[in-house]
Parts: sequence; structure tokens; C-alpha cells
Amino acid sequence: MTPPPGTPRIDFEANARSALGDAFLQRALRGAMVRFRELQAGVIAEVPQWQALRQQAHDIKLDTLAHLDRHLDELESRIRARGGHVHRARDGAEAGRIIEGLARGRRVVKSKSMTSEEIGLNEVLGGAGCEVTETDLGEYLLQLAGETPSHIIAPVVHRSKESIAELLSAAAGRRLPPEAEALTAAARVLLRERFLRAEVGITGVNFAVAETGTIVLVENEGNIRLTTTIPRVHIALMGVEKVIPRLADLAVFLTLLPRAATGQRMSSYVSLLTGPRRPGESDGPEEFHLVILDNGRRAIQADPVMREALACIRCGACLDVCPVFERTGGHAYGSVYSGPIGAVITPLFVGLERAGDLPFASSLCGACGEVCPVKIDLPRLLLELRARVVRARGAGRAERLFVAGWSRIMRDPAALRLAGGLVRFLQRLLGRRPRWVPYPLSRWVTSRDLPPPAHAAFRQGWKP
Ligand code: SF4
Repeated sequence: MTPPPGTPRIDFEANARSALGDAFLQRALRGAMVRFRELQAGVIAEVPQWQALRQQAHDIKLDTLAHLDRHLDELESRIRARGGHVHRARDGAEAGRIIEGLARGRRVVKSKSMTSEEIGLNEVLGGAGCEVTETDLGEYLLQLAGETPSHIIAPVVHRSKESIAELLSAAAGRRLPPEAEALTAAARVLLRERFLRAEVGITGVNFAVAETGTIVLVENEGNIRLTTTIPRVHIALMGVEKVIPRLADLAVFLTLLPRAATGQRMSSYVSLLTGPRRPGESDGPEEFHLVILDNGRRAIQADPVMREALACIRCGACLDVCPVFERTGGHAYGSVYSGPIGAVITPLFVGLERAGDLPFASSLCGACGEVCPVKIDLPRLLLELRARVVRARGAGRAERLFVAGWSRIMRDPAALRLAGGLVRFLQRLLGRRPRWVPYPLSRWVTSRDLPPPAHAAFRQGWKP
């Protein structure tokens, strides 16, 4: 995926600084991430074979990626055999043109799709005279606000109830109280009218089963069921990596996805759609189109180290445990994909020169790799990208000196003891919340506490 010329570099540091100064955002993120983690831990603990399922999902995805063409060809021929149409798009512009050609001038309802956000589909359709309505509640609110999602699963986590009430009041033409029940009821009325008038429904795809030509959509609000059944035309947009070989593989992914995403045992609705409506069926679209998008994915697939990133099932769990994401939120990443997986795939999509800061937006604590339900080794991928960034940019003189000094100390036990003692002494001197510390440590303490020093070094209490 090549960004348009002149597209600015993503300045994560500046974005993060502004997020850290937003007290509401800090409270909202912390509350939501803690809640997600508690819910996920509860339902994951009920599955004794969780680790085995993660490995199985990882193996299915990696094996599928190794034979991607075969599975995509099978998917395409099954869908065509059931009366559907399949389109292949090399990049976002081509996918946009295909969908624009199918929807031009029509009333469109859309369900949540990160891939459509990735290619800026709403802008393309708006330019083609379509009336486009997002129907996932969070996405609808973002559309009203003219914003992008700040979390894969909770796209409006950055907004307060009061600001949501203002958005919906303007859309409804009457004053609404900032209460969840009243707001969702109002959104329901507004959206229902859009569903009933819609001529085209556009969705993403969670999984596409090659052996049957079935697309699988997972949701909680029921808007996808309406998007795929009321309009005469259904267009589904998927990245090439969403294909899975067999229907039986779904059992693995449908066990993992809702638990890792929203902390549910099962999502409220799982739709399995195989082609358009057939004679005698009471609902479903007359026309079904699947648009299969590359947009840089083939290049990632061809990269033996980074290929693993394509196994992502967009559950958002790595965002929920990431200490960096919990403080900055998703907008700081300057891309629809945020958190640890965004820090990996955004630079791969748009280039290291534009998004080379993102792999450094990580403490490398390893939590993302531990929770990922498809066992993507995110810390390893982040480290690999960091190495590529440094190789491309070259390290500064100060960085080279620091690393040379660090390496010297780590190789000499006496120097390590001395350095450890010096650091502990300085930390005690400065206290937990120092008013002043010298640069570059001053950057660390502007938004974090300095942890109190241990009473003794680990090596002092450890006897081999
Ligand atoms: S990388 Fe793993 S944890 Fe993160 S969104 Fe993708 S599947 Fe979920």
C-alpha cells in the first residue's frame, strides 16, 4: 500500500503528548481497559484448552498464508458457483472504484469494517453521490462526529456520555439526556429508518471459508443482520488474509474471538452467508459481491519474518493490555490500526519512513504476545521493525554511545555492580516524584512515576 505523495509522517510522540494531557481520555481508557481485561480473564479461565486452541489457530492461519492463492481461488470458485460475484483489488483505490461502481448514487448502510476505514471508503462513496450510514452504534457516532475509531472493539471510548448526547441530539433534532438507555433508543429509531430505505449493504468479513464459499460475520448489535438482509445488494470487503480453509476451523476461531475481544463466551450474532438469496428463501440480498483486497498484504505475506502479522483476527486484546495504548489511546497511532498490532502493520502498510516511530511505541513488556489469541509474537515483530528502522535511518551519535556504554557494562560484572549501586543511590536521592531530573530522564518522568529502587540488586540475593 503506497500512501499518496506528501502524506505526512505519523508523529506518535506529539500525538501521545496531547493524549496524556487529556484528563477525561486518561480516565476513560484506564476504566475501559481494566474492565475488558477482567471480562476476558474470566471467560478465558473457563477454557482449559485455551493455550492449545491459540496454537491451533496460529497453525491454521500460518498454513493458510503459506498456500494463500489456492485458498483464495477455492473461495472464489465456491462463491461464483452459488451465484455470487468476486472482485480482486490490488489496492484501496481499486477496491474503492469497484464498490463505487456497484453503489453509485444509492442509499448505503454499512456495518463496522476496519478494512473499509483503511481504504477511506466512506469518502469515496460520498464523492459518488451515495448516502452512506454507518450502523454499528460506535461507528455511527464517529460518523456524526467526523472522527476515526480509537479502539478496534470500542471505537468511541474517547468520548463522554455528554458529548455523545450532543451528537445524537443534533441528529435527532431534539434534546436527549446523557443516559445510555435514552441514547441507544434514539439511535435505534434514527438507524431503523436508514435500514428500511437502504439499497446497498456493505460489511466487512471476519472469516471467509474457502471450502464452502461462506463469509462469517460476528457482532453484538444485530446491525449486520439487517445490513445483509434488507438491501437488495450486499457487498462484503475483506483483506486477502481473512480466508480460512475449512468450516471446521471456525470452531477454533469462534471460541477464541469473542473471549479475547469483548470477554464474552459467544457474540450475540454470528452470521454465515453463502451467496445471494436462492429461490424459495425469504430473505437475503438479490446480489452478493465479495471484494478481496491486497493493499500491501501480499508484500507482508512474502516477508518470512513479518508474515505472522497477517494472522490477526482484530480482537483488540493486545490493545487492552498495552501500557502504552492505555495512556495514549488509538488516535495517537495516526492510523485506523492502533496498539501493538497497529505498531506492526501500519509501518508495513505505509512504510517505515512514514510510520517508523510506531514500533518504538512499546515498552516491550511482552503482554501483547501473551494475550494474542492467535499467538502472534508481537514483541518479536516490534523488535524486528525497530532494527529495520535503525538500519534505514542510522542511529544518532548519542544513541551509539549509550549502547556502546551499556554493552560494556553488561559484559563486565564489576562494572554492572558499580552501575547498579550508582543508579539505586541516585533514585533514592531523587525520590518517587522528583521535581527535577536531568535530560533525557526528564522525558520519562513527565508522565510516569519513577519506581522506588529495590533494597538490594537481584544478583545480591541470587546464588547459582
Ligand atoms: S494481534 Fe492478536 S491480540 Fe492483537 S488484535 Fe490481532 S489477534 Fe487480537
